[in-house]
Amino acid sequence: MTDIALQTRGLGVKYGNFHALAEVDLQIRRNSVHSIIGPNGAGKTTLFHALTGRVRASSGRIELDGRDITDTSDDDRVRLGIARSFQVTSLFPNLALRENLRLAAQGRTPWQALAPWRRAEANAEALAIADEVIERLALAPVSNRLAGELSHGQQRRLEVGMAMAARPRVILLDEPTSGMGIDDIEAMKQLIRDLGRDHTVLFIEHNMGIVMNISDMVTVMRLGRKLVEGPPAQVRDDPEVQRAYLGNM
Ligand code: ATP
Repeated sequence: MTDIALQTRGLGVKYGNFHALAEVDLQIRRNSVHSIIGPNGAGKTTLFHALTGRVRASSGRIELDGRDITDTSDDDRVRLGIARSFQVTSLFPNLALRENLRLAAQGRTPWQALAPWRRAEANAEALAIADEVIERLALAPVSNRLAGELSHGQQRRLEVGMAMAARPRVILLDEPTSGMGIDDIEAMKQLIRDLGRDHTVLFIEHNMGIVMNISDMVTVMRLGRKLVEGPPAQVRDDPEVQRAYLGNM
């Protein structure tokens, strides 16, 4: 297996005649935290849509562990291991936190196809995954609380946990700290840093302090293209980035 979990080559996306992404080459290293930054309209969300299959690439290719997935459906990409953490709306508010995670862990199991005796075993496996994720989320004290009754910060951590529970190859996080207070931001930073030890994490973030603090690599985008890429310190000191963007993000 190569060191690169996810790769794009010359990736382009068009909305009508408008090029929202053009010639984007990305290499996301396995077990790393890679952030995508750029001013409004840079194409960050479109990139995530293209990686998850929500929008089609108009040019170029996408590879997951060396396998070309450019033409696979969004459902197939979930099965192949691309997990995107969605907003709080994807949680089941009337189920306990642990139950949400159990369901997320079961997500990839074709339940109906299992023999009845296998179902009990699969359920136990899913609960074990849920408990492992709860530990890593540092949410054990509230694991039996209904998801709808958790604080905003806890719900955002649970969203990340839902992606983890599916045992993905790559986790995409879309502004995981948006709308959070200082304490919750700190907890999320620690979670993402911890995740990067044994997961491949790609995340969009507007808060530069967080980006510089927890990223192994940073890609700066502008007008649908990659502008600069490198480790945080290098990107921060890049005159082009400083001139054009840092005041703007
Ligand atoms: P933000 O930080 O504001 O979320 P972004 O970097 O995520 O911005 P995108 O949302 O990917 O940027 O948008 C890139 C460009 O594509 C923008 O100019 C936007 O107006 C345009 N765009 C996005 N979605 C569509 C769409 N469905 N149809 C047409 N144009 C779109």
